Amino acid sequence: MINVTETEANTVATHLHMQRIDFDNTYIEKGNTDTLLINSIPCPFLQQNQCSIYEQRFQGCKEFPGLHVPGFTKRTFTTFMHYNRCPIIFNVVEYLKVALNFF
Ligand code: SF4
Repeated sequence: MINVTETEANTVATHLHMQRIDFDNTYIEKGNTDTLLINSIPCPFLQQNQCSIYEQRFQGCKEFPGLHVPGFTKRTFTTFMHYNRCPIIFNVVEYLKVALNFF
């Protein structure tokens, strides 16, 4: 799931020439702690295998797969969900398997 800040939601809504309420109704799901999440998988902004809002994409997208973000070991499930789709994750995991003598 993609986390979205209020500022990011405002930025993308403006970029799409949408009222914020319409943007929220179309793309946002509110989490239990009022966090904002993109409401569908795959992401609705993924069009023809490209990000249609690339310049305005969310911070989580910019940091994906977040291997440099502290707490990586708490996100291994999410990381492995993308193992077969994300070349960065694939290459890092394959590198670690060799480096750590996993076989
Ligand atoms: S980079 Fe773009 S298409 Fe990919 S998840 Fe983020 S907003 Fe969606």
